[in-house]
Amino acid sequence: MTRGLDGDVRRRLATRAVHAGIVPDPLAGAVMPPIYQTSTYIQDGLGRHKGYEYARTKNPTREALERNVAALEGGRHGFAFGSGLAAVDAVVKLLSSGDHVVSGENVYGGTHRQMTHIWARLGLTFTFVDGGDLDAVAGAVLPSTKLVYAESPTNPMLRLSDLAATGEIAQRAGALFVVDNTFATPCFQRPLELGADIVLHSTTKYLNGHSDMVGGLLVTGRDDLAERLGFIQNSSGAVPGPLDCWLALRGIKTLPLRMRQHDANGRRIAEWLSHHPRVQSVNYPGLPSHPQHELACRQMTGYGGMMSIELGDPSFARRVIERTRVFALAESLGGVESLIGHPASMTHASVPPELRRKMGLTDSLIRLSVGIEDVEDLVEDLDQALGAG
Ligand code: PLP
Repeated sequence: MTRGLDGDVRRRLATRAVHAGIVPDPLAGAVMPPIYQTSTYIQDGLGRHKGYEYARTKNPTREALERNVAALEGGRHGFAFGSGLAAVDAVVKLLSSGDHVVSGENVYGGTHRQMTHIWARLGLTFTFVDGGDLDAVAGAVLPSTKLVYAESPTNPMLRLSDLAATGEIAQRAGALFVVDNTFATPCFQRPLELGADIVLHSTTKYLNGHSDMVGGLLVTGRDDLAERLGFIQNSSGAVPGPLDCWLALRGIKTLPLRMRQHDANGRRIAEWLSHHPRVQSVNYPGLPSHPQHELACRQMTGYGGMMSIELGDPSFARRVIERTRVFALAESLGGVESLIGHPASMTHASVPPELRRKMGLTDSLIRLSVGIEDVEDLVEDLDQALGAG
């Protein structure tokens, strides 16, 4: 018997993060999966090969990542993509022209842009509703609804969808239920266990965790969907390179450790900001003041490092953003380093202003991605920036 690394999916999450999907390299027994930097594979004869023919279709490094994330989410099949938006693209390609989608209005700006500027032009129709309002979700369902799409918590308002209840609405409608789990990660929320058909990640964010690659991933527990997603992955071809897969896989080994620290730092900073005289409100599901805190306690086991704060004055918000020194002004989130951003002009600039207003995404809203640095340095940094007058 070959002695392998124990990636048994019955193991606990931190063990799975380190081991799941990793098969010891058959050539040398390398403990870490090699980066199979190749576009093609030699064949012994026509139709005789080791199961690998061309790297768009299959790559062993990519497969290790796909198996690993599938195990973390409690699914059976993973599909890696060149970005989170390429994963969204693959999900929507399960539909056909004329089909209808009910989506949370509060989704990441790029997801909203893809749906409204690309898919709507190609014959799909969309209704965007407050994903936190179950009556609005149910009321938006049409006979042609084939997909219910939720992001929870949302970027950047940190609104939640009741995943179990939304899944039931989708099931009654005969529609697929897809959940973007990028903010919570499988450490804090397991959508497949709550009724989702597919879980989506931007691996660019917490899963990789080091801000050094861009990628996306889909996980499903359904064999029928896996077959269709595998076909789309290969036919559309938006696959990640092996080095990026390897970086994501390496990042995931410390995901549970990192998420514990993001969560501890996030809770402390959200609590501290909620008492700060210059801060009007803090959007963080872990705070009892969050309107869906009870739901957060029910469907999440932690809250992570993402939050947004309302400062009430756009020019003050600009000054705060430009004065932080530990928090770097940059797009993206979920890395070990703390980032600060201005959603209205950065990540959500593509969302129409009237929809931004409806969501509460104002010009004086700041988004924080709290990293894993010493939390006292982070508090001091925000304190000096907020004191800037
Ligand atoms: N989903 C969420 C919640 C995001 O925040 C993002 C990007 O910020 C995406 C999806 C898209 O991912 P990517 O930037 O990897 O394409």
